[in-house]
Amino acid sequence: MNYQAFLIKYSEIGVKGKNRYVFEDALVRQIKFALAKVEGDFKVEKQSGRVFVTVDGDYDFDEAVDALKHVFGISAICPTVVVDDTGFDDMAQAVVDYVDGEFEDKNFSFKVFGKRANKNYPMTSMEVAAAVGERLLAAFPEMRVDVHHPDKMINVEVREKISIYSTEIPGPHGMPVGTAGKAMLLLSGGIDSPVAGYMISKRGVNLSATYFHAPPYTSEQAKQKVVDLAALVAKYSGPIDLHIVNFTDIQMYIYQTCAHEELTIIMRRYMMRLAEHFAKEDGCIGLVTGESIGQVASQTMQSLNCTNAVCSLPVYRPLIAFDKQDIVDISEKIDTYETSILPYEDCCTIFVAKHPVTKPKLEVIEKHEHLLDEKIDQLMQEAIDSVEVIHVK
Ligand code: ATP
Ligand code: MG
Repeated sequence: MNYQAFLIKYSEIGVKGKNRYVFEDALVRQIKFALAKVEGDFKVEKQSGRVFVTVDGDYDFDEAVDALKHVFGISAICPTVVVDDTGFDDMAQAVVDYVDGEFEDKNFSFKVFGKRANKNYPMTSMEVAAAVGERLLAAFPEMRVDVHHPDKMINVEVREKISIYSTEIPGPHGMPVGTAGKAMLLLSGGIDSPVAGYMISKRGVNLSATYFHAPPYTSEQAKQKVVDLAALVAKYSGPIDLHIVNFTDIQMYIYQTCAHEELTIIMRRYMMRLAEHFAKEDGCIGLVTGESIGQVASQTMQSLNCTNAVCSLPVYRPLIAFDKQDIVDISEKIDTYETSILPYEDCCTIFVAKHPVTKPKLEVIEKHEHLLDEKIDQLMQEAIDSVEVIHVK
C-alpha cells in the first residue's frame, strides 16, 4: 500500500484553549525535526484542527512511522490515502481499493465515518457514509456493518481533497517538547536516569544533561555508554547538551577527608551543586534525577532530604514511587535497557562504604561537610572550568 499522507491525532493538546496554537505549532516543529532524519520529501501542516504529514515521491514507510512514534504529543499516526475530488464514483472506488489493500482478511464489522469539511460538497457527511458503506458491502460480502461497536472505523474526510484512513498506530502521547521549559538531567550510565529523562521530556520539557565521571577510575567506555544513552533519550527529547564533569579530584578529596559512611551522601550533594550550576548556565528551571524512595541507601527519605537541601531549583524525580521492575519495563520499551546494563563502572561505585548511613541527619552532614571547606571550592571551580560539553542529537 502506498500512503502519501499521515493524519496525526493528538490528545491532550486539544484541550489547551487559547494556547492551543502554541502546542500545535510545537507539535508541527517536532514532527518536522523528527522527519528531517528520514529520507523523503515530507511536508507538515496544520489543517482545520488537524496535523497532516504529506509526502511526495518515495520514502521508507517504517522509518517514517518510527520517527513519528518518537514525537511526544502524538496520540495516533494514521496512514492515509489522499485522492483528488473527481466525483463520488471515484471516491467510493478509492475507498474500496484502500480497504482491499489495507485488510487482507475482510471478515470484520465496520462503520464508515464521513466528514464533510468542504461544505460545497454535494452530499452530507451522513450521505457520504451511507453510500460508501453500500459500495464496500457490494465489493466485500464478508464485511458487515455495525454502527455501534465496529471492529474497524473507515474514515472518509472530504476537504479540497479526500482523505481515507482507518488504521491508527499508537503514538507516544504526552506533550510536544518545547512547550514546558528546560531541565537538567543527572544522567548516569544506569537504568533509572535515562527513564527519568524520557518521562520528564514526555511532559514537553527540553533537556540538558550532566554526567560525572572519575577518570582513570572510570573508563572511556563508561563515558561512551552515557553518550549513547543520551542519544537514545534525545530520539524523544530532541538534542541534549551533555556536560561531562571530571569528578575525580572532588571524590578523592571527600574520600580522604570525610567519614566513609557519609561519603556517598556528601558526594551526591556535590553532584547536585555542580549540576545546578550548569543548569542555571543553560537556562534550566529544574533538575531531574532517577531516584526512587528506598532503592539504595542514598535514596531513603532522609538521604533525599540531605541531597535536596543543597539545591535552590526544584528537583524532579519522576520515578520516586516506582518499583525497579516498572522502571526496567519502561527502559525496555524506550530501548535504553540493553545499553544501561553494559557492565562499565560508575563513579558512585568506585569509593563506596560497606555500611553507608541510611538515615543521615541534615545538620550532621552539613557540619561534617565543613571539614572540606578550604579546598573544595577550588576543586569545584576546576571541575566547572574543565567541563566538556557534547551536543548529542
Ligand atoms: P541510575 O540507574 O540512574 O544510575 P541508580 O539506581 O544507580 O540510578 P544512584 O547511583 O544512587 O542510583 O543515583 C541516583 C541518581 O543520581 C541517578 O538516577 C542519577 O540521576 C544521578 N546520578 C548518579 N550517578 C551519577 C553520575 N555518575 N552522573 C550523573 N548523575 C548521576
Ligand atoms: Mg547509578
